[in-house]
Amino acid sequence: MKKLLYTLLFFILWTSPLQASFITNSPPTIQIANQQLDEELILDKKLQKIKQELLSLYKNNFPYDIPILEDERLSNSKLYQFVLDLPKGADLHVHCSEIMSITDFIEFISQNERIFISNRPERKLIYLTEDANIPDEYINFQNALKNGIVTKEELIAKWTLGASEYNSTGIAWVKFEKLFEDIDIIKDLPDEWIYKYYYEAFLKYQKNNINHLELRRVIKTDINKERKMQHIIRQAYYDVKKIYPDFSVKIIGNGLKYHKYSIKNTKQRLENTKILQKEIKDESQTPNTNFIIGFDMVNEEDTSRPISEYSKLLKQYVNRDMNLYMHAGETTSQNKNNINTAYKLGSKRIGHGYNLYMFQDLMNKFKKNNITLEICPISNQRLGYIKDLRKHPAKTYLNRGIPIVIASDDPIFMEKTPLVDDWFSVIISWDLNLEQIKQICMNSILYSGLTTQEKEQLLNRWEKQWNDFVKEQNKKL
Ligand SMILES: [Zn+2]
Repeated sequence: MKKLLYTLLFFILWTSPLQASFITNSPPTIQIANQQLDEELILDKKLQKIKQELLSLYKNNFPYDIPILEDERLSNSKLYQFVLDLPKGADLHVHCSEIMSITDFIEFISQNERIFISNRPERKLIYLTEDANIPDEYINFQNALKNGIVTKEELIAKWTLGASEYNSTGIAWVKFEKLFEDIDIIKDLPDEWIYKYYYEAFLKYQKNNINHLELRRVIKTDINKERKMQHIIRQAYYDVKKIYPDFSVKIIGNGLKYHKYSIKNTKQRLENTKILQKEIKDESQTPNTNFIIGFDMVNEEDTSRPISEYSKLLKQYVNRDMNLYMHAGETTSQNKNNINTAYKLGSKRIGHGYNLYMFQDLMNKFKKNNITLEICPISNQRLGYIKDLRKHPAKTYLNRGIPIVIASDDPIFMEKTPLVDDWFSVIISWDLNLEQIKQICMNSILYSGLTTQEKEQLLNRWEKQWNDFVKEQNKKL
């Protein structure tokens, strides 16, 4: 663990603009970590043991596609419980309409009596106001569930992407976007239900030991509608923060790279992001901080416009407050050069960066400049980019010293517990030790879009959580 402490110290001394305040304000951070040394070594041995126990359960046939939704032995394991308890820091890459697990989502929509489900195989959801006519083939969702016309098990299987379902990214994306169309009804619900959705999802994140979220959100072209949504999300965050003062949320505004949308369409979304960033602050912080921290362009990379088409436009908006956190390199193709463009544009972090290994020079630059990769292992697996997670290139990025964080991307369609499944998959597939786990958890705070002061606060609290975690796990395991 000593190496880790030096790494942290080095990070604090070396990186900007954090260094000064960290050194003057938080030397206890390093002290506390030092005292934990022996206990962490003991826990690391126990961690290796529970990994072995799990592997031996499958003899020589462990499923490295990590089918957590399909195979209860994985989620019933000691390792899964260890990951649930782990103070994970932040989830820096998750799309806001997908932040609930599928089980929680079904539970959530079953509370609303105006949600209807189609009686057809795809099981599409709609929300209807009291005075609306119920279209043919649609039945009340609550009743359908109560009377067993649909079951939770059927819906979970239907509304998620299975671990070994797709070998090709193209087909996986078609199903993914269809699912999105079929069940994305949160946006159609009355405001109080949208609030409730975020409030409950945030509470769950906190309960699963995740303190900070950076939500990707497609910014509406109608600024009034977008303003209302931002206020609702912020209120839900404030209300969770009243119960859990450590909890925080930031928003990364998104444009869409689909060919069907014009560059002008992105300009509108960027303009709205800029206006709302100035208007809507995180007032729970003194001084107030930005609630909206930056911008990104989303959707399937292989079939969309390259981000170079937006470079000129993006450059006009990027500044100290408006950072880029670009999706790039979510592809297995060497011909997709988005990751280079994103780097040149000064993107602080890269969403995925899967194909970075195809650009050796760029790997060195990422390491040198601490460009952080948001690695979403379950998403990459379910969307067909990689079958066996042992072979995920991010293991190499980690070994090469490029900063990475673990993130969940679209948990509703893929995960039993948001972010927990991702952590579980990399700990077992990359055979991570406790030192590596600790570093990646800390990365999620250090490379977040929080201000220096917010990072210090969160890192100090996280460190206490980590020390408690180590003590408790040593008793438990
Ligand atoms: Zn994403």
